[in-house]
Amino acid sequence: MNREGRGATAPQSASETGPATFTGNRALDLEEGLLFEIGRQEVTGVDLDEPAAFAPRLGGLERKAPLGLPGLSEPEAMRHYVRLSRMNYGIDSGLFPLGSCTMKHNPRLNERMARLAGFADIHPLQPVSTVQGALGLMKELSRYLLTLTGMDAVALPPKAGAHGELCGMMAIKAAHEANGRKPTIVVVPESAHGTNPATAALLGYQVKSIPARADGTVDVEEVKKALSPDVAAIMLTNPNTCGLFEPDVVAIAQAVHAVGAYFYADGANFNAILGKVRVGDLGVDAMHINLHKTFSTPHGGGGPGAGPVVLSKALAPFAPAPALVADGDSLRLVEQQGQAGAAQALGRMSAFHGQMGMFVRALSWMLSHGADGMRQAAEDAVLSANYIRASLQDVMSAPFATRPAMHEALFDDSWLEGTGLSTLDVAKALIDEGYHPMTVYFPLVVHGAMLIEPTESESKASLDLFIATLRDLAMAAKAGEKERFLGAPHYAPRRRLDETRAARAPVLRWVKPQAVAEAAE
Ligand SMILES: *Cc1c(COP(=O)(O)O)cnc(C)c1O
Repeated sequence: MNREGRGATAPQSASETGPATFTGNRALDLEEGLLFEIGRQEVTGVDLDEPAAFAPRLGGLERKAPLGLPGLSEPEAMRHYVRLSRMNYGIDSGLFPLGSCTMKHNPRLNERMARLAGFADIHPLQPVSTVQGALGLMKELSRYLLTLTGMDAVALPPKAGAHGELCGMMAIKAAHEANGRKPTIVVVPESAHGTNPATAALLGYQVKSIPARADGTVDVEEVKKALSPDVAAIMLTNPNTCGLFEPDVVAIAQAVHAVGAYFYADGANFNAILGKVRVGDLGVDAMHINLHKTFSTPHGGGGPGAGPVVLSKALAPFAPAPALVADGDSLRLVEQQGQAGAAQALGRMSAFHGQMGMFVRALSWMLSHGADGMRQAAEDAVLSANYIRASLQDVMSAPFATRPAMHEALFDDSWLEGTGLSTLDVAKALIDEGYHPMTVYFPLVVHGAMLIEPTESESKASLDLFIATLRDLAMAAKAGEKERFLGAPHYAPRRRLDETRAARAPVLRWVKPQAVAEAAE
């Protein structure tokens, strides 16, 4: 990144938010240059001894010029990152209504557990006899996931939902191959998350899209029309991305199985049905579970994610290595495909066993909630979403509202008609009010979508303030108070960014302004 264009995003001008300051800082909001701008090559925060004389062994390929890394003193480095962190917004700062992402509170108990030395200070290559506790935790987490889903096997290694999709679809592909079949098509409803068709395409499948019904759900008749012996699988999200439970899910599963295809369920929205519905009972063959959504492990910069995949009996043999197997009283890992315990394994999804720290946090959340607590979390999340929809429906337009919402409330942009404002303007105005925006323009099947997922983390007081804020914004939009929206965010450390230009012409490398000037000459 260079400073070009910074002016457009610089701190607020005097006229908008009070007098300008000399430093560009605004009280606790500190303006911050890039490391490359504030660092100097002659400074360092650490003292390193001069290396002893040595003969280079790179055959003349060693670097001749200095690296040019910026140096900072320890307090400067510390302040840089702390200042940046204060420009961030997280679930620990306020309500984070990002739909489909299930941004819920990560209890501090989870952090305490994850820092226990027996979990935090171990290495994946340690002899298994020394990590029996960690393997035991993985086994226990697996048991919880299988009980909650009613499935037969679980693969813990995938490191995100999308990675879990890849794992589940690879298991499906392996199963077809083992059966001597080579189907070429994967059926995906239009409302699907982009990772679904991307996963199918990555594995070489042709994606066949099916339309949604007028009520936002998938039509079993449309599924049947798309099915043939050439179909490998359907990828279906339930509850779907419109926030609705698919009423025909069992009939869809039966139709899919009737042509020899498998049912991949996108489990990103599992929070809505946790402890209420076992997906195994619906006919699902594979489903990823985003531990960082449903089970409260941190994400959105605080990650890493973890996306275990549960598998049906038909797909269980193809689960990736390593397999966790019991040997008498102890546990061991079968690392190689082809070995007993992983005879038909699809291979490996990652170098080691998955995100251990997230396994600890997820199990900690499960144990502290218990069966009744997990069910209540799902019920409260659904109640919160319905409360938001019911409280805003008279000022914002909610499509598909004839059905109860599950975990998220969906609005479109028809209520903005004639105001000259867009979904994006509303999202940006929410930033000024101190909220992270909701998910916008997804799902694609709804025009100007605004997808709000409050989760069970929010108190009624918190929901009421959020609702009142959106009502106020809706009223302002309808009253023609455009300034509040068009220039928003007015009060954030950075103003509205040119997101299209950032995506189309990303500047990924900082170039010294002087070098830029010289190059131009
Ligand atoms: C979040 C999400 C995914 C992808 O999960 P990641 O962990 O972000 O890779 C897939 N499908 C849906 C519906 C999602 O909400």
